[in-house]
Amino acid sequence: MNLSKKHVADKPILAVIVTHSHGDHYGGLQGLVSAEDIKSGKVKFITPKGFYEEAVSENVLLGNVMRRRAGYQFGLNLERNSTGQVDVGLGKPFLGGGRSSLLQPNFEIEKTGQTLNIDGLELVFQLTPNSEAPAELTLFAPSKKVFFSAEIASHTYHNVLTPRGAKTRDAKAWAGYLDEAIDLFGAKTEFIVPSHTWPVYGHDKGITFLEKQRDLYKYVHDQTVHLANKGLNKDEIAEEIKLPPELAKEWYNRDFYGTVKHNAKATYQFYLGWWDGNPAEYDKLPQVEAAKKYVEWFGGEETALKKANESYQKGEYRWVAEVLKHIIFANPENTAAKNLQADAFEQIAYQSESGIWRDLYLAGAKELREGVIVPKNPVNRATGFLSALTPEAIFDYLSVTVDGNKAAGKEVALRFIFPELNKNILVYLKNGVLHQSQTRINDKAEFTLTIPKTKFVELLTTPENAKTLLFSDGVSFEGDPFKFKELASVFEPANPYWNIVTP
Ligand SMILES: [Zn+2]
Repeated sequence: MNLSKKHVADKPILAVIVTHSHGDHYGGLQGLVSAEDIKSGKVKFITPKGFYEEAVSENVLLGNVMRRRAGYQFGLNLERNSTGQVDVGLGKPFLGGGRSSLLQPNFEIEKTGQTLNIDGLELVFQLTPNSEAPAELTLFAPSKKVFFSAEIASHTYHNVLTPRGAKTRDAKAWAGYLDEAIDLFGAKTEFIVPSHTWPVYGHDKGITFLEKQRDLYKYVHDQTVHLANKGLNKDEIAEEIKLPPELAKEWYNRDFYGTVKHNAKATYQFYLGWWDGNPAEYDKLPQVEAAKKYVEWFGGEETALKKANESYQKGEYRWVAEVLKHIIFANPENTAAKNLQADAFEQIAYQSESGIWRDLYLAGAKELREGVIVPKNPVNRATGFLSALTPEAIFDYLSVTVDGNKAAGKEVALRFIFPELNKNILVYLKNGVLHQSQTRINDKAEFTLTIPKTKFVELLTTPENAKTLLFSDGVSFEGDPFKFKELASVFEPANPYWNIVTP
């Protein structure tokens, strides 16, 4: 903002367009504009339709597991140097520190072709759901001849399935949106501006860029399906597909972020799921149990480690990684095995073209050598997120924090009234499941709490202050407050630092 104020114009922000439901695109919004200005509509906050629900789903319900895995994908704990993190594939590291939050948009783009005039600037939108994000849009500014491609076209092959974990993206639809963008905006386009990476200047270069990005996604999609129909499984398909030179030789089509290999596997999964059809793969033993048996069948840890060393000397790093996993999962105290596994991961990392492959292998190597690094003062992201959520989204979130074993056999019904939102929500635990309803107005509740949402968030994040909060201004209740405690007793916090490379 300071750069733009200095070199472009020092003007107030009238509108913010968030192209898609990923945290690196909306999380820092409150650094630029205030939540009040968005709530009042003073600043237009424009998103594709479905943005808020998808952002909640990706970043709240699954937030914990995705953040831990994102730490690997982006090498967040790595040193930044020639043997550590040099990049995150989509450019230099783009995840800042600090707090992030999610605000509700006050203007949604409903359909492709929709236009909007912001302070005299005409914009045309294209909806591209289930491409790079479940809710995404691109936009075109006819008077400036600029096409903003969000992340559906970039100077890299993007992820059809991001290693941090997400819903698998629809590669066929993705290619289709690029084709549609050429039809809708291509003739008038002189500049293409992708997120994260640099612009493409010139009409002809821009069209070639969009066509070859489109064909990159379509080629890997079509060949994956083609080979699946021939009977290859996802690992075999990943080894088999090679891009034709006319696509492979463009720098912007390279495996810097997504890769042909993992995107082919993703497309297989998108259509066919994780199973390859062989019953031997259908109900495998869990990893620790299997590992113990493998090691026994290998002839013990020492023999297995000796053979792994020989394979390492021959440069068979992928094989070493696979075999050593069994030794480590059978005996996580085996330091020699962990160090050799780390050596193998590092070699794979250094051979990777993809920044995130490098980062995730190096992150694994680091944890094998040093263990899981738990920060001294972990950031509590819950407060920022919960205060931005609707009560319904909060109860959805709470329902996945329920420990099913603890909840079994318990029945509790509570009612929450949020007067400022005009919402009356029955929340009840039954059959091990937490439900919410806004239609069962007359059902009996053992405890009814009337509370502003901000105070409700405080109650959840600082339960030790419950008594003060319950007797504070604007809060009233009926029935037994200990019923709330009873309900809360089935909530289990997530583990932000779970083991990945060890059991
Ligand atoms: Zn992004």
